[in-house]
Amino acid sequence: MATVLIIGAGGVGRVVAHKCVMNSSTFDRIILASRTLKRCEEIQSELPTGAIEIVTVDADNTQEVIDLIKRVNADILINVALPYQDLTIMDACIATNTPYLDTANYEHPDEAKFEYKLQWEKDQAFKDAGIMGLLGSGFDPGATNVFCAYAQKHYFDEIHTIDILDCNAGDHGYAFATNFNPEINLREVSAKGRYWENGKWIETEPMEIMQVWDYPEVGPKDSYLLYHEEMESLVKHIKGLKRIRFFMTFGQSYLTHMKCLENVGMLGIKEVEHKGMKIVPMEFLKTLLPDPASLGPRTKGKTNIGIVAEGIKDGKKRKIYIYQIKDHEECYAEVKAQGVSYTTGVPAVIGAKLMVEGKWSGKGVFNMEQLDPDFFMEEMNVQGLPWNVREMEC
Ligand code: NDP
Repeated sequence: MATVLIIGAGGVGRVVAHKCVMNSSTFDRIILASRTLKRCEEIQSELPTGAIEIVTVDADNTQEVIDLIKRVNADILINVALPYQDLTIMDACIATNTPYLDTANYEHPDEAKFEYKLQWEKDQAFKDAGIMGLLGSGFDPGATNVFCAYAQKHYFDEIHTIDILDCNAGDHGYAFATNFNPEINLREVSAKGRYWENGKWIETEPMEIMQVWDYPEVGPKDSYLLYHEEMESLVKHIKGLKRIRFFMTFGQSYLTHMKCLENVGMLGIKEVEHKGMKIVPMEFLKTLLPDPASLGPRTKGKTNIGIVAEGIKDGKKRKIYIYQIKDHEECYAEVKAQGVSYTTGVPAVIGAKLMVEGKWSGKGVFNMEQLDPDFFMEEMNVQGLPWNVREMEC
């Protein structure tokens, strides 16, 4: 039994709050904290009276987070605010010896670059504090890392190549909207692509490499090569790996809108002057776009995210596909959120549950593939993310 402090009341925070309530035998006290109380109130109103407590916090301020952790006496902190807050929240956890979990790696607001370096540097401080920090416990990163560890444990002696395949075939009816925080989403998608081969990172132009993949229960979709953060840890932890790539599906309308916004400077993250005021174009665009949380009731269709691994087992070539399919409308019926928030929030709760139960333990900071995948895979089946494994022709 544990007191869980959730920071961030966006789309993912909503799912985490709902799912923690559904797991009340593990989380007997749930506090949802965020910058804007109204967002917390909305989520609280969807849950049984007294199920969660809510409070405001500015997580950019480490001392505020320290004070809050102490006040509520948290046993574990789930960070589902924005990647900008990762370091301040980690510092608060170190100062209070509180286990930490997040779903996305640190990004600086002024530089669209995401890497684990600054979070990995906190490993010793986590060890000294005697606590575990679990990095990237969403779907990708998160479940995809666990799929790789599961493949390595049960299907291969050595994995040589991994393709991570992320398909969101949901339709929300808007000409253009993003399924999670627009700023984070558009920074990720408009950046140069990158993949890893034979020990080196190879850079591509944005959307330069495309392949069509036939996603089970969805069908063939154009899938574009992007850089994605889980590759940085997987190249360290999957033995014998020769290549890893990440692909995500985009429709033509999304890509055309994005290119146009980019061409006119709306994806800029540096301040510009407008009628005597300083504004950041990307932040202004976020104000104009639909709130991802509002997409829930309108989104139809499925997500399908998985990995294809190829390698050697008992001297023979082998190729397997592990994937998870989720229906947006089912997610909304269960927790009032669309599939992208659902598939991120549920793994966060699973990670926290395993930490509270001591099934995943250790001192220092960990990426998901460093831990025993079996517990996580079992919980996915129980918590609403059943997965499949398909043997493929090499
Ligand atoms: P949202 O923008 O919907 O929600 C973020 C929430 O964090 C908002 O409630 C926001 O408050 C709050 N917040 C922002 N800054 C602060 C602050 N300084 N102090 C306190 N609270 C703050 O994002 P999502 O829910 O879509 O995403 C949450 C996280 O999940 C992100 O880090 C995202 O990158 C990650 N993610 C991970 C995925 C994965 O598979 N691993 C996939 C999708 C998302 P306010 O309401 O005031 O703006």
